[in-house]
Amino acid sequence: MDEIPTGVFPTRELYRSIGRASLEKLLREQKAQVLRKGWIQVGAAPQDIVAAVRRGGVCSCLSALKRHHVWVPEFHDVHVRGNRRAVADRTGPFCRRYGRPLPEYGAVDDVPTALEHSVHCLDAEGMIVVIDSIIHRGLMSYDEVAHLFRDAP
Ligand SMILES: [Zn+2]
Repeated sequence: MDEIPTGVFPTRELYRSIGRASLEKLLREQKAQVLRKGWIQVGAAPQDIVAAVRRGGVCSCLSALKRHHVWVPEFHDVHVRGNRRAVADRTGPFCRRYGRPLPEYGAVDDVPTALEHSVHCLDAEGMIVVIDSIIHRGLMSYDEVAHLFRDAP
């Protein structure tokens, strides 16, 4: 068994990458633990990501943008994008986008998804500075940002 990843992963991703037998061995040896259904922590993982997945979502919004080295205003609690069930059960607080909820794909959202979910957590000035930082770092183009918010009011 080599190349064991550490962090927080969807269980099905670990089945693909290391296989069911290796994963079961890690769980038995308490080198991995189930955070919630479908999500497993292997080895050490950042606390904000663990907290987000435990709460019933993934690390998104300002927390994810900061992880992608985007400049964001100071904040304290982890910003979480809840999955459909967690939102329905109100286990939040969760950050919301305009439009329907998106499926989970990883423990930390990519830049476009995180930006979409930051609209209610930033004032207009904060939004402009965050978008400016994203474009300046080459993470998204102006057109990509405009396209992302084409349906927003
Ligand atoms: Zn937020």
